Amino acid sequence: MPSSLPPLSARALALAQSFVRMNTVSANSNLELIHVVRDELQKLGVRSRLTYNADKTKANLFATLGEGKPAGVILSGHTDTVPWDGQAWSVDPLSGEVRDGKLYGRGSADMKSFIAVALAQAEAFLASSAPFAIHYAFSYEEEIGCFGVRELIADLRDAGIRPLACIVGEPTSMVPAIAHKGVYRYRCCVRGKEAHSSLTPQSVNAIEMAARLVGKLRDMAEGFEREEPRYAGFDVPFSTASVGQFHGGIADNVVPRDAEFRYEFRDLPTADAQAMQQQVLAHARTLEPAMQAVAPGTGFSFETICEIPSFLGSEQDPVTRLAQRLAGEPRTTLVAFGTEAGLFKNAGIPTVVCGPGSIVQAHQPDEYVSLDQLARCQAFMAGLAASREIG
Ligand SMILES: [Zn+2]
Repeated sequence: MPSSLPPLSARALALAQSFVRMNTVSANSNLELIHVVRDELQKLGVRSRLTYNADKTKANLFATLGEGKPAGVILSGHTDTVPWDGQAWSVDPLSGEVRDGKLYGRGSADMKSFIAVALAQAEAFLASSAPFAIHYAFSYEEEIGCFGVRELIADLRDAGIRPLACIVGEPTSMVPAIAHKGVYRYRCCVRGKEAHSSLTPQSVNAIEMAARLVGKLRDMAEGFEREEPRYAGFDVPFSTASVGQFHGGIADNVVPRDAEFRYEFRDLPTADAQAMQQQVLAHARTLEPAMQAVAPGTGFSFETICEIPSFLGSEQDPVTRLAQRLAGEPRTTLVAFGTEAGLFKNAGIPTVVCGPGSIVQAHQPDEYVSLDQLARCQAFMAGLAASREIG
C-alpha cells in the first residue's frame, strides 16, 4: 500500500461506528440505518427511493448522486448482518470499538464500513464532473438469501433506471473479484405412514425414504467431483452438494411418519443448480409410486429456502478494469462466498465485487476491519469521484 494514502476521514469512521452500533441482524428491522442514510442524503438535496418488505419493517435504499446525468455506477452494500449468538466475543459486538488500527463489531467488515465510506463520499460524488452518476444501492436480508435486493432491482427495472455498472463492496481485501459460486438451499419434507415397528409392511418409513434421497444427493456430489470440468481459482474447483440438517422419528418402536432434511448446492458459474434440483425432484417422483401403493397421501414435498445465483464477471468488463484501476490492484480473484453480484449481473448490469476487509473475519467472533483497508476503500471512492470514464 502506498504510504501516501490519506488516512480515513473522521466522518467515515464515525458513520461506520454508528452503523455497527445498530443491531441490524437479518431478523431485525434495518430502518434505523436506512433512515440515517436517507436523512444524510436529504441534507445534500438527494432523494432516496425506498422499497420495503411486506410488513414494512425493512427497506432497501436506492439513491442517485448526479441526477440528470446518464445512469452510472452502483455502489452496492447490504445493511443486515449475521447474528452472534453463542460466539465467544472479547468485545461487545455492538461496540464499534477502535483498537490497534481496527474497527471491531458485527458488520464492521461485512459490510457496514463500505456503506459508511461510500456515504462519507457523497459530497465528492455530487461535486464530481464525471459524465456518469453514482448510485447507492443498500439492501436488507442479504445474509439470509439476498431477498431485499431482488425488490430493489425490480424497482429499478420498473422505473426505467438502467445503471451501467455495479460494484458490490463485500470484503475482498480490495482485490476485484470476478466470480463466485451460487448457493441454492432447499427443505424436503417426507410424509410416510406410521405403524408399530413390528408391522413394517403396513407402513411407509419416512426416514428410510428420506435417506434414499439423501443418498441420491451424495451420488450427485460424487458425480460433480468426478465429472465436472475444473474451474481453477476456487478452493473447491467443482460444484458441491451437502445435507446440513436431518430430523425424523419419535421412538425406536414406531415407524416414523415424518422426516425432514435440508440441503444445498453450490454450483460453479459454469454449472446449473436449477437442473441439479430438477434431478432431485425427478428422483423423488420415482420413489413415490411404491410409497403410495402402501398409503395414499405419502410422498415428498419441497420448499425453497434461498436461491442465490452464481456470479461470473470478466477481466474484460470495463467495471473490472475500473475497480482494478481505483484499487491500484492489477490482480483479480474469485471468492468462495455468495453475494448479490449474480442478481445484478443477471439484470444486465456488468458487476464486480470489491470491498474492504477480509471474509476471514466476517461472521466470526471479534469481527473487525482494519482502518488501513478503509483508507484504501476511501481512496477507491475518491478515485471514482474523479473518474472521467468507466474502465
Ligand atoms: Zn456480506
